Amino acid sequence: MKIICIGLNYMDHIREMNNPIPQVPVFFMKPDSSIIRNNKPFFYPEFTKDLQYELEVVLKINRLGRNISEKFAHRYFDEIGLGIDFTARDLQRQCKDKGMPWEIAKAFDGSAPIGSFVPKTKFESMGNITFHLEKNNEVVQRGNTKDLVFTFDHIISYVSKFVTLRTGDLIFTGTPVGVGPVKIGDRLKGYIGDELMLDFFIK
Ligand code: MG
Repeated sequence: MKIICIGLNYMDHIREMNNPIPQVPVFFMKPDSSIIRNNKPFFYPEFTKDLQYELEVVLKINRLGRNISEKFAHRYFDEIGLGIDFTARDLQRQCKDKGMPWEIAKAFDGSAPIGSFVPKTKFESMGNITFHLEKNNEVVQRGNTKDLVFTFDHIISYVSKFVTLRTGDLIFTGTPVGVGPVKIGDRLKGYIGDELMLDFFIK
């Protein structure tokens, strides 16, 4: 399986990163070795001094597809969850400055903790899902999918022009404003609405 991550997909986050608004979705990938499940701890890696959380809604792909039209994209996932797109911001900055790929900053082991998934039938609309992240019981990020630059359906359609989607693939759909650092000992808790979906420690 593979993990596809969308960058720069919430306006306030694009502003906080001082980036221009993308005209088409920007995506990159993480390998399956980046996944952490079952709220297992994340071990702070030694190669960064600025590890940052990005809380994101995650789609779980449920069938094979390529060149999917936006109209039918909703048929390709039936569960959503939350994940953290951990980013070594210092390394990412260096990669960006050199115009080089940023895998060392984004695709390292453990860089994609994921929580539990829920059926999307639980929600009235994929376009109005509230979610938030708490660091040590203080809210640090709040998002609503109504603020997405590119909708879930648009993302699936766009990505599948280039990359075949398979059952079990995950799509991280971008982070809202409020990204920030973690340190050893921190506890991160992710919620959709008021339901706890993800809860783990940095060690
Ligand atoms: Mg991200």
